[in-house]
Order: sequence, then structure tokens, then C-alpha cells
Amino acid sequence: MSTHTVINPATGEAVREIPLADLEQADAAIARAAAAFPAWRDVAPQDRARLLRRFARLVDEDIEHLAQLEVAGSGHTITNARWEAGNVRDVLEYYAAAPERNLGHQIPVSGGVDVTFHEPLGVVGIIVPWNFPMPIAGWGFAPALAAGNTVVIKPAELTPLTAIRLGELALQAGIPEGVLTVLPGRGAVVGERFVTHPQVRKVVFTGSTAVGKRIMAGCAEQLTRVTLELGGKSANIVFADSDLEEAAAQAPGGVFDNAGQDCCARSRILVQRSVFDRFMELLEPAVRDVRVGDPRREDTVMGPLISARHRDRVAGYVQAPDGTPRADIAFQGEAPSGEGFWFPPTVVMPQGPEDRLLTEEVFGPVVAVVPFEDEADAVRIANDSDYGLSGSIWTRDVGRALRVSRAVEAGNLSVNSHASVRHSTPFGGFKMSGIGRELGPDALEAFTEVKNVFISTS
Ligand code: NAD
Repeated sequence: MSTHTVINPATGEAVREIPLADLEQADAAIARAAAAFPAWRDVAPQDRARLLRRFARLVDEDIEHLAQLEVAGSGHTITNARWEAGNVRDVLEYYAAAPERNLGHQIPVSGGVDVTFHEPLGVVGIIVPWNFPMPIAGWGFAPALAAGNTVVIKPAELTPLTAIRLGELALQAGIPEGVLTVLPGRGAVVGERFVTHPQVRKVVFTGSTAVGKRIMAGCAEQLTRVTLELGGKSANIVFADSDLEEAAAQAPGGVFDNAGQDCCARSRILVQRSVFDRFMELLEPAVRDVRVGDPRREDTVMGPLISARHRDRVAGYVQAPDGTPRADIAFQGEAPSGEGFWFPPTVVMPQGPEDRLLTEEVFGPVVAVVPFEDEADAVRIANDSDYGLSGSIWTRDVGRALRVSRAVEAGNLSVNSHASVRHSTPFGGFKMSGIGRELGPDALEAFTEVKNVFISTS
């Protein structure tokens, strides 16, 4: 059996050796989930709700432990990791209300009564990336279980520890064996098996756009349902009429959170030309203030990148072809030297719209800042991207905030804020950023098939 050694990104040291499932074990897990489905589907609504609430309570009691695991195994800062574990609790509590909520309708028709039911799909395969191991697992399994599906989750190879722990807590909560299985394994083995297995009725994939396209193509074979949450290149649009001090103070958090390894990272800052120089003056101290270092410290704002390989990939984006630093780097913050996979917060002012810092997802602490002329120009630049996940608009003009929000092609926009995620509101992307929505009421529906039943009264 192959294994993967989880590495602490802050130290480079081995944390734990994790066995990786092979094809036979993937098939066995899917078969167990399929066998567990009829009984789980038929659990009385209030009992399913109670089990999910108990699961939420156990997650709540385990927050510190889960957070410490994420710090050691993924390099997340302790404050972020606590929020992430708390988010899993919140998502479970939110969807625990769902089994007792009637999702169907009664529709007036002639000659009888017409009702719709939302039926669970069966086995759902969830493929999780390494950047937010806990929330992204929870956003999948909480609504899927609430709707009556059974779930097999494949965490990312690099970051399986917290998903494994969440699986243990589900069992402790009394969720029956086979209803939620956590199966560490390789994407090309376990992940692809979700796509090809005839008993998997839906694949939820969060990860890169390249792999997402492959998954969708594979799912077409059996019309397996799919939700895709993919990459981003989101714009943070700062208008001259905004609170410029606040916009500059918040801009680093909008892109450097989780060391920029965030699909919602506002990695393009668009600033109205009339205030461009002033904004850059304000941004520089805010970026230099980002405290990068030991993720166990309460006052650390940014931790390491996930791996040496990923750090080198990010570094490639701020190098000229001859390996020297790009000439258009405006300024950089500080990062520790020595062990661990560190990279400083970096601000670049690219010269042309074809620069790859404006088109490709870096997934690291690198932000490109460009000027724009007016509202139309801001919208044009913001939409000049294959992606459309999130974005921010800074302005004091409510009309402009609404006009620009409607015009920007993205699934999650914030006005005078960078917050993208709330458990009760839909999350997902336009264009190459994905298909479908997670969280909120939309996700619950996405884990069901609508069935229409007509009952004749004649
Ligand atoms: P990735 O696509 O390489 O891997 C994601 C997951 O897919 C991993 O679990 C991996 O094992 C699995 N996988 C890889 N190849 C597979 C295959 N052929 N079949 C099935 N599964 C396979 O991405 P990553 O590097 O782990 O994550 C970073 C990417 O995720 C970024 O592009 C980021 O924007 C994106 N992301 C998007 C969101 C969102 O909600 N939109 C959230 C987080 C991350």
C-alpha cells in the first residue's frame, strides 16, 4: 500500500504517515456508501437532524484540536484554523435544520393534486483541495448528508489530517458506518474512480480549473451530476470616491489571507487613476505590516506556502526570464528565511494587460495593481479574465456599488469588504471558476433530484 508523509510547511518536518487507498479500497468504500444509502435516506427527518446537530457539537468541542492539526499539517495560522473548524460547525448546524424543512411544492393543476419531492441522489463523491481542507469538506458533506445522501470524501494528498478527524467525529456522533467515509488517496486513483464508478451519482470537485474540466468531461459519460468550484483571478476595484485609507488597509487581507492560497484572493487590485499614487503610498505600509511567520502564534497574519514545489512555482511569477527579480515589483513585505516554505507578500505593477500576473491564478501572496480611468473601464478590466469567482468594490456611491456589482461577471462580490463566505449564502463561480453553488439553500437543492407526482382526484 502506498503512503503519503504529511509535512509541516512551517518547518519542513514530517508530521504523520498516511496510507493512500488503492482502486480496490475506493471501490469498497463506494460499495459501503451505496449499501448505507437506503437506510440513511429513510432515517426519520428529526433523527437525521439530531445526528447532524450532535456532529456539529462534537466539532465545536474539538475546535482547538482540529485547529492545531491544521496548523501542523497545512501551515494555516492558528486564528484562521480556528475559524475554519468553527465554519464546519456552523455549516453542520445550518443544514441540520434542513431535513425537517419541506423543499417541495404543491402546484395547482386540474383534475388532481400535484406535488414535488426533492429526493436524495445516492452516493456523492467529494474531492477536496489542500488550501482549505476543513471548510471545503464541510460545505460538501453537510448539505449532502442533510439531504439524505451518503458521502465518500477524498482529501488532498498533502492535507488529509483534519478530514480524517472529522470522519472520526461523525462516527462518534452516531452517524452510521458507511454514511460518511473519509478516504485519503491520489486524485488519479480515488478521485478518478468517483468519476467513473456507476454508483456515484454526484461528484463535487474543488480544485484547479484544468482538473475540473477533466472531471466534467468524465462525468458526461454517465451523466453523473457535478458541482465544480475552481480557480479565480478576482478584482478588487477601488474607486476615487471610496474611503481610500480603509480600502488600502483592507487590501492585504483580501489577497494575502492563507498566504494567497485562496480561490477568492483579490489578486488584481484596480485603482482609479486619479488616486492611484495616493493608494500605493497607503498600501505600502499596510503590506509591510503583514506579519509573516510561525503559524502557531496568535499574532501571525500569514503563514508559509503549502510545499517547496508550490513556493518555487509562486516565485517563478515574480522573476524575469533570466531569474532576476521582475523590474516592476513595487514593494515586498518580510518573510522568514530558513526552514519552511516562505514567501513574502509581494506587490507588482504590471505594464501590459497580457502580463500573466493579470491572467493566471498564482495561488500565492502576489498581487498585481493596475490603474483604470472610469467605471466602464473598471468593469472592462475586471471582466477581462477567464475566471469569475469573487471580487470587491470600494466606493461610497450606492448606485455605483450596485451598477458595478451587476456588471462584474463573478459569483461572489463584496462592497467595501472582502468577505466572501457565509454558511447561509450561495458560493460559486461564473465562467471558468466553476458550475453550481455551495452553501446556503442552493447547495441543498443541488444534492437532490426533483420528482413530480400527480395524484388524480377523479
Ligand atoms: P488540484 O486540482 O490539483 O487538486 C484538487 C483535488 O483534486 C485534490 O484532492 C487532488 O488529489 C484531486 N485530483 C487531482 N487530479 C485528479 C483527477 N485527475 N481526478 C480526480 N481528482 C483529482 O488543485 P489543488 O492544487 O489541490 O488546489 C488548488 C486549486 O483549487 C486552485 O486552482 C484554487 O483556485 C482551487 N480552489 C477553488 C475553490 C473554489 O471554491 N472555487 C476553493 C479552493 C480551491
